[in-house]
Amino acid sequence: MFKRYLLAPGPTPVPPEVLLAMAMPIIHHRAPEFLPLFEEARQNLKWLFQTKNDVLILSSSGTGGMEGSVTNFLSPGDKAIVINGGKFGERWLKICQAYGITPIEIKVEWGYAVKLEDVEKALKKDPSIKAVLMQASETSTGVAHNTKAIADIVKKYADTILVVDAITALGVFDIKTDEWGLDVVITGSQKALMLPPGLAFVSISDKAWKFAEKAKTPKFYFNFKKERENLLKNQTNFTSAVSLIIGLREALKMMKNEGLENIFNRHSRLAEATRKGVQAIGLSLFPKESPSNALTAVSAPDGFDGQKIYKELRERYGITAAGGQDHLKGKVFRIAHLGYADTFDVITAISGLEMVLKGMGYKLELGKGVGAAEEILIK
Ligand SMILES: *Cc1c(COP(=O)(O)O)cnc(C)c1O
Repeated sequence: MFKRYLLAPGPTPVPPEVLLAMAMPIIHHRAPEFLPLFEEARQNLKWLFQTKNDVLILSSSGTGGMEGSVTNFLSPGDKAIVINGGKFGERWLKICQAYGITPIEIKVEWGYAVKLEDVEKALKKDPSIKAVLMQASETSTGVAHNTKAIADIVKKYADTILVVDAITALGVFDIKTDEWGLDVVITGSQKALMLPPGLAFVSISDKAWKFAEKAKTPKFYFNFKKERENLLKNQTNFTSAVSLIIGLREALKMMKNEGLENIFNRHSRLAEATRKGVQAIGLSLFPKESPSNALTAVSAPDGFDGQKIYKELRERYGITAAGGQDHLKGKVFRIAHLGYADTFDVITAISGLEMVLKGMGYKLELGKGVGAAEEILIK
């Protein structure tokens, strides 16, 4: 027997309640039985996003929501600031390039959060910039950028919208879509929403909808205006991912029962315990500032291969965490604690890490990391 533990920053584990709901026989997406299910999911999404605006439900992974958020609001030749502090920031660059949007890159050293004055300066220098594209939580480095502070800057520019990839932020820490004035907020199903991969969600402000009226970038499948028209009839433009939406309804019900504040506190507690645990083993966190509560990126100790640590966790102990990406490959590994995660997921991760490191010849006292995590988790 080999029991598996999924502790990656997406896909994340799916609770049994949600799995069972998704096992229901397929119902037709235009049939009357589907409408109330869709309606409930729709309303609860607004609650999760802390918005009065409609939240689009797209059949795609999170990147589809990102791509649609470029094609629906911008035109070829438009300029957009891209906050690039990791793999997912880079994705904004690539999407812009694919559609002829001119990216103005704010390059952020991996492991750091963007400097607010850099955003301020870039906008001041060129007020014709149409959008600022950012990550609330950069999953490749485990760093959270300061979404609220960036929104405060962008808000001052009537002709600029803020587009937030909140894929490992929403449902992890506080993202006040309406109160902070976030124009476009994107998330995906397979992270904090505790669902299988396959859905993307996008909330859109009135300011952003005005951009949608003028955007000339070609699009077909991800047509946000058509999605919004259909949403008002409790439908999606094309065939809905029926089972995923039924799962979504269940997952949101669970999240509502827990409450936003409790969800954020749980993630904060798990993140804190993980950080304390790995540090007690003698390892250091990769983020130099502003670590995200979604996951912990850990620097591999000198002389030890981070890729090997991640592989050993999986192959010897059945724990799927994540390695490092690009130039961080081998230097970093990442432990997630978002979505359907609780106390013993952290203990599993830290315990597995201790055993793997010891097996690789790293000097440590078994249980020390686990003990440090427990000190936090017991509170
Ligand atoms: C997971 C993730 C995405 C989306 O990736 P998909 O594979 O398309 O779901 C985008 N941004 C961030 C920050 C992510 O963590």
